[in-house]
Amino acid sequence: ASLASKVFEDGLEGVIITDAQGIIRRVNPAFTIITGFSAEDAVGKKPSILKSGRHDKAFYEKLWGALIEHGYWEGEIWNRRKTGEGFVATETISAVRNEAGEVAHYVSTFRDVTERIHSEQRMRHLAHYDALTHLPNRTLFVERLEHALVRARRENAALALLFIDLDYFKAVNDSLGHAAGDDLLCTLAARMKEVMREADTVARLSGDEFAIFMEGVDEQTNIDGVLKKLLDALLEPANIAGRSVTIGASIGVAFYPRDGENAEPLLRAADTAMYRAKGKGRNSFEFYRPELTQSADDRFTVISELRQGLERGEFCVYYQPKVDAHTGKLVGVEALVRWIHPTKGMIPPDRFIPLAEQTDLIIPLGDWVLETACRQAVTWNATADFCNLKMAVNLSSVQISRGGLLQRTQDILARTGLAAQQLELEVTEGVMVAGVREGYKTLTELRELGIAVAIDDFGTGYSSLAALKQLPITRLKIDRSFVINLPDNTDDLAIAQMITRMAETLKLQVTAEGVETQAQADCLRDMGCNELQGYFYSRPQPAQALEAFWRSRP
Ligand code: C2E
Ligand code: CA
Ligand code: CA
Repeated sequence: ASLASKVFEDGLEGVIITDAQGIIRRVNPAFTIITGFSAEDAVGKKPSILKSGRHDKAFYEKLWGALIEHGYWEGEIWNRRKTGEGFVATETISAVRNEAGEVAHYVSTFRDVTERIHSEQRMRHLAHYDALTHLPNRTLFVERLEHALVRARRENAALALLFIDLDYFKAVNDSLGHAAGDDLLCTLAARMKEVMREADTVARLSGDEFAIFMEGVDEQTNIDGVLKKLLDALLEPANIAGRSVTIGASIGVAFYPRDGENAEPLLRAADTAMYRAKGKGRNSFEFYRPELTQSADDRFTVISELRQGLERGEFCVYYQPKVDAHTGKLVGVEALVRWIHPTKGMIPPDRFIPLAEQTDLIIPLGDWVLETACRQAVTWNATADFCNLKMAVNLSSVQISRGGLLQRTQDILARTGLAAQQLELEVTEGVMVAGVREGYKTLTELRELGIAVAIDDFGTGYSSLAALKQLPITRLKIDRSFVINLPDNTDDLAIAQMITRMAETLKLQVTAEGVETQAQADCLRDMGCNELQGYFYSRPQPAQALEAFWRSRP
């Protein structure tokens, strides 16, 4: 105890001890030297007195997530001294539990590493500009926006805030690699600046999110022209990594003072409108309306309900049969997650998987689906007509890139007792293309366990034959969009034929999804597909319903 107290009193590291509610109970002398806050200043307050405002909500969510899950967080954090000056600290926070296992204190130790990391000037730049695109970052954007709002308030003027989110950026980033993704961001950032006037502030908020504000513009001003010009500029193909890449963007617009008085609510309104624009079919813009927030589809509402739903077990898994193209026999099923919302009813995955991916909720959700599906396969193994079915489970690229997937999959197989050979994972071609080394490695390791890997929605992405050849995969799934117009549409026919021939060359199996008619089934079988899946055979259904349905088939 005396050693500990010596470290506390004489150490170079700042120490903060809070109670379970996060109220500061003690700090040490080093804390005061580093931060400028005396013990009197700090005790009774929250550590947020050090908050610099330079981290977004997601950062603190991650921090708290780690604390709750592992009782420990460590990382680099931007803090603020009493003088208001920013500093960078490497910090650890540990939860200390009492005998009953409840959190009694949090102990945080930190070291000022500002000097080590940056010279003063570079720091100011880093703090305000995005290193990649050289556009103002979120901090500077919000600062400027707040200034503009003060001006607008004084002069009784209005202001338009644009929230821009790139469409399909993730797919490009996954398939062409991060360097290409960075290139694309720079190209598009430059185009946005070009379209806008000198006086407008264009900023990169994070990842593929940008924002712009235009002073002196109100909801009566017709800015459709500017918005269209922006969309066109972003839709223009870009030359990236030797290819022509086309993405696009969705834009949400909010006005001061109509939609909000301050930066935060305005950003939120514009973000909500953007989200609606995306839902409309991308490459479009939308103006904020209060109904969007009240609507049950509001992004923030859905995200928090999603988190809750996961805790309350509101999800279930449906299964859709896959049949042998020649014998018509049931050979496997695909697990498809469903959200049974307590008031909104059943919500299809397209409406919540993207949100789960953005918030990392996809990790616990994905693990749950995998475990549920494996357990179901084991249950079915004990029956006469559903035994030895191959269980296919969808994987999001986020699950692969976050790491730990291999271990968790092994654990799930061990827990449920399913043989790896009975499991198939479906991934989209984006994550598979070489250049995303982490994904490639993980999938290779999964293959080595004996798990099959299929490429989902094949034909919609960027992968080439050369890239495919190197991948640890066993199957291609022809995307539904090429099946829907068979057998009459000659373009789609040619594409489907090309895919099956390619698969043959590469010794891969082929599944066609979205088969709805006998004619489609015949045509796909004749061109050499091994497996067929679609409403023609069965819709996805809960396990028991599927058993009954399948047994009652003529
Ligand atoms: P997907 O993997 O391409 O799944 C096939 C989708 O097509 C399913 O929609 C299925 O219900 C639908 N479908 C099947 N046959 C037919 C047909 O004959 N006609 C038509 N019109 N549609 C058909 P669902 O279940 O709504 O899933 C949509 C997408 O959500 C999936 O596309 C998959 O990308 C994603 N998803 C579903 N479950 C999961 C999951 O557990 N994890 C992850 N990461 N993604 C999932
Ligand atoms: Ca799938
Ligand atoms: Ca698919």
